[in-house]
Amino acid sequence: MDLFEYQARDLFEKHGLPVLAGAVATTPDEAEAAAKAIGGKVVVKAQVKVGGRGKAGGVKLAENPADAREKAAAILGMDIKGHIVGKVMIAQAAPIEAEYYLAILLDRSNRTFLIMASVAGGMDIEAVAHNTPEKLLKVPVNTIEGLSKSAALQIIQDADFPTDIAEQAADALLLLWGVFTSEDATLVEVNPLVKTSDGRIVALDGKVTLDDNADFRHPDHVALIDRSATNALEEEAKAKGLNYVKLNGEVGIIGNGAGLVMSTLDVVAYAGEKFGGVRPANFLDIGGGASAQIMADGLSIILGDVDVRSVFVNVFGGITACDEVANGIVQALQILGNRATKPIVVRLDGNNVIEGRRILKEAAHPLIEQQDTMDGAAARAAELAAK
Ligand code: GDP
Ligand code: MN
Repeated sequence: MDLFEYQARDLFEKHGLPVLAGAVATTPDEAEAAAKAIGGKVVVKAQVKVGGRGKAGGVKLAENPADAREKAAAILGMDIKGHIVGKVMIAQAAPIEAEYYLAILLDRSNRTFLIMASVAGGMDIEAVAHNTPEKLLKVPVNTIEGLSKSAALQIIQDADFPTDIAEQAADALLLLWGVFTSEDATLVEVNPLVKTSDGRIVALDGKVTLDDNADFRHPDHVALIDRSATNALEEEAKAKGLNYVKLNGEVGIIGNGAGLVMSTLDVVAYAGEKFGGVRPANFLDIGGGASAQIMADGLSIILGDVDVRSVFVNVFGGITACDEVANGIVQALQILGNRATKPIVVRLDGNNVIEGRRILKEAAHPLIEQQDTMDGAAARAAELAAK
């Protein structure tokens, strides 16, 4: 889960990283009140989970509360790279003398954690990494040993941070390591980490990605979920333990195994080209066990999607044999009753396929149609969706 900047700021504060006063606002009124409470000049910052917000006009300095109100009114509702701004953060303004960059991330390709540090912080770290890679220091961290104060200081020195703030910057890096490990993050980034005119080091903008696999260790992370952005069907599927992702097409997809479902999406998209550009409506992997309940849960999620016009059930029987899957489908339709309203194309293959197909044929459910091949089933499902 990616956090908003204001959530990252709060997390940094919780772990002792120096940040400036900040409050979130959803209306110009709230923005004005927040600016009044903070006092002095403030920065009005769009809260969107996308980079390059400053350059897109989503970060504006305000002289006073009335100005903050005006700037917030301009930023709220703004479209930044397809993200509509619903919240702004009102942050105390800082007199900036220099902007640096610090990040810690999970480096999957090298199977380690990686610290990145640069004195060329500010808005465009990607450009720094691309054009002047020597200005972005990258240091792997041993996951068992972690980060010591002396190692942090060495990194800061190697990255050419000025000596007068090296100690403070190293402390900031250690605290950031604390955020990264104790919150189970896969990314923590501060850009910019600034030196203020009175010589203090402050984290001015933060990006945090939390590892959802560690949610069970962090009950408090639930409060960080952005309900306005999560799809209702995805929520429901998650609650039922299903691996479901909503897509934009019209053919509902159920399959067993992530690989098979991925290729099913491709085959349906390809077949759909002949039927006016019909596309898959979702990804849904029901995994190994295709019991009646799992099948009913899966079908009920997919049939709840108003965009779905046909369903393609693509199952390759392995340990769970085709006859069990076929029984699962038949029972699922009994459970769903008149909630099942859309044509369902089933392609079964693999273990015990003959018995599986016989069960479906015998059940003769008016919504079910069998196809022998994956391509044939994809074409039929696309055709039904186009009708
Ligand atoms: P981003 O573009 O989404 O990364 O937004 P940032 O929060 O990093 O802000 C972009 C830039 O705005 C920073 O690099 C600063 O130069 C400037 N900025 C942000 N906050 C302040 C502030 O409090 N005072 C001043 N003077 N500039 C700021
Ligand atoms: Mn930034």
